[in-house]
Amino acid sequence: MLKGVPSLAGRNLRLLTTQGQVLVHHQHRAKASAAEPAELLDQETDLSKRAKFGHTGKQLQQKICKEKKLRAPPLLNLVFANRKLSFYDTSSTPKTKEDNAKLSQRRHYSMRPHREQEQRNAEDVLFDMFASEETGLISMGKFLAGLKTTGIRRNDPRVRELMDNLKKVHKLNNYETGSSAETQHLNRETFKAVVAPNIVLIAKAFRQQFVIPDFTSFVKDIEDIYNRCKTNTLGKLADYIPQLSRYNPDSWGLSICTIDGQRFSIGDVEVPFTLQSCSKPLTYAIALEKLGPKVVHSYVGQEPSGRNFNELVLDQNKKPHNPMINAGAILTCSLMNALVKPDMTSAEIFDYTMSWFKRLSGGEYIGFNNAVFLSEREAADRNYALGFYMRENKCFPKRTNLKEVMDFYFQCCSMETNCEAMSVIAASLANGGICPTTEEKVFRPEVIRDVLSIMHSCGTYDYSGQFAFKVGLPAKSGVSGGMMLVIPNVMGIFAWSPPLDHLGNTVRGLQFCEELVSMFNFHRYDNLKHLSNKKDPRKHRYETKGLSIVNLLFSAASGDVTALRRHRLSGMDITLADYDGRTALHLAASEGHLECVKFLLEQCHVPHNPKDRWGNLPVDEAENFGHSHVVEFLRSWAEKVDQPNEECQPEAVTTKTQADEEICSTSDLETSPATSPIPTPAESGSRAGSGRSSPVPSDAGSTASAGSASSIDDKTKPGL
Ligand code: GLU
Repeated sequence: MLKGVPSLAGRNLRLLTTQGQVLVHHQHRAKASAAEPAELLDQETDLSKRAKFGHTGKQLQQKICKEKKLRAPPLLNLVFANRKLSFYDTSSTPKTKEDNAKLSQRRHYSMRPHREQEQRNAEDVLFDMFASEETGLISMGKFLAGLKTTGIRRNDPRVRELMDNLKKVHKLNNYETGSSAETQHLNRETFKAVVAPNIVLIAKAFRQQFVIPDFTSFVKDIEDIYNRCKTNTLGKLADYIPQLSRYNPDSWGLSICTIDGQRFSIGDVEVPFTLQSCSKPLTYAIALEKLGPKVVHSYVGQEPSGRNFNELVLDQNKKPHNPMINAGAILTCSLMNALVKPDMTSAEIFDYTMSWFKRLSGGEYIGFNNAVFLSEREAADRNYALGFYMRENKCFPKRTNLKEVMDFYFQCCSMETNCEAMSVIAASLANGGICPTTEEKVFRPEVIRDVLSIMHSCGTYDYSGQFAFKVGLPAKSGVSGGMMLVIPNVMGIFAWSPPLDHLGNTVRGLQFCEELVSMFNFHRYDNLKHLSNKKDPRKHRYETKGLSIVNLLFSAASGDVTALRRHRLSGMDITLADYDGRTALHLAASEGHLECVKFLLEQCHVPHNPKDRWGNLPVDEAENFGHSHVVEFLRSWAEKVDQPNEECQPEAVTTKTQADEEICSTSDLETSPATSPIPTPAESGSRAGSGRSSPVPSDAGSTASAGSASSIDDKTKPGL
């Protein structure tokens, strides 16, 4: 009996038997074989016929569902609708000129052959990556686990169609026993149809084209930092309202969402807590979006106050200092009431604001904690005092109802959320106002720039100056223990742990931010171009290495000692070899660049005898190309090095530390005549005089092979 996963490609219908056999039914076959469920075959033929008559996939789907009284659309539609195939018969020749014109127009809009081809290839490559050779089937469990390592979760809205399709196929397959929709096994064509609607994102993920290409390694480092922070038991719970004092001081959650929607969470990431001051940048963003910075900043300043967050103080213009402290946030709330939505009731403004927060979070958890709201309102003498003080100083717009404004402020502080949702909000801020998971544009990029600027200078209470100095990133903390950290154009991070330091910042959250920036070059003023002792998770390991080796080898081949010196000063591993095992020394020798050869051996201490893939040493190269002066030098060097107890520099195989490099390079500059940045006439001659083809691959393909660079002591070859 057939267990039956029908999989449809073009005009053929394939059926998967329990033994994993694939039975193929060709459309032109008059009758289905006994082993093939006739209904499906009829359905397919029927659909193919209809497809010729211009139905769109969706219309067709609806029509068949209605006619056949099906609750779910048939699988065939999955293939047709998802792959957006053109519904006309490409095999029939158009008869009239008109037909021809129509056809080419339709091709123009719907086929895009190159893209289609590319996508088809991506689907096949993915299948081949995960399919079992034995059964010829792909385990969706393995595939989805692979997708997860790239940071894409199964519940990501951008792979919803894939997950829905899996359910449909599972159902059509009579709920294949022993598997769920997510662990079932599919044949090639079914797999391709299932992934097709989301193939662009999926291909990007597996090609490591996200902002953090090696997400697994990054996550490993984050876990290490998280665990170190976990052991920190300093800090005290906020106790000005009972709800905050009841938190578990051991709670510690951390969530990350990149601008490509790569997700990682660890710890108490679903425990709800109230937004408190983390709501301040968000209401400020709404006011900016609706009123523009001119209007907003005619009411509130942009300066750090240098005072406590709830201090009864205004700036010299009688305005609250900035929107991140209580006075400024109360003022922002008044702008929402009086200027953004003057016609809305308090209830409507609450809903309106919450809907912005929800959109920023990609629809993840945003709720409301009424007990916190009531307590906030009860314990609000200072906040009321701020409100009256500002009213006395005419800070508010006309028509402001202070009581409503104060309630609205407490409501914003009492909105409830968790680390998961807040990491998406932080990522939307990192992504210029576009939510990475839903791809909805929530705010304009100019708004986000302004919000991040203020967060950068005023986001962490009285620690803001030090935070800007040490961490160098926009952040906002709150008394419930939250810390929202934004790495612009990279990712959003939310850390939550209730114990606070004496300034009101979460102790573990703060430690996390500081450790993060000492490990990765995320500080606003970290240099991204030159090598440093910090990691850059944005770069692709092999891409970086490949580019470096191309530069290094070309410098050696062209006899450019100055460039070689620069590479060395930047801390680069001068022993790197390309895919063929060719080193800078091979190229300098084969091109007859004696100065380069000397520099590489005397100053960089590279090994004199690396073999390329053909077994050639640099001295062989020099000999083959008739550079006797280089041969002579290399031979005498080899003699010196190979003689024990001889006074000569040992050859370095591993990369030196940066400090070593700096010390050595300074002395080189002072003492070595071989290191002059100006080429000697001999050097210039040899640069110009070499009429032979360069031993460095001269076309773009060299980049590809150099992309597979290895160093003498690191023979790791890249993967896919
Ligand atoms: N609800 C608190 C207040 O207004 C918020 C404080 C905070 O998180 O900074 O005092």
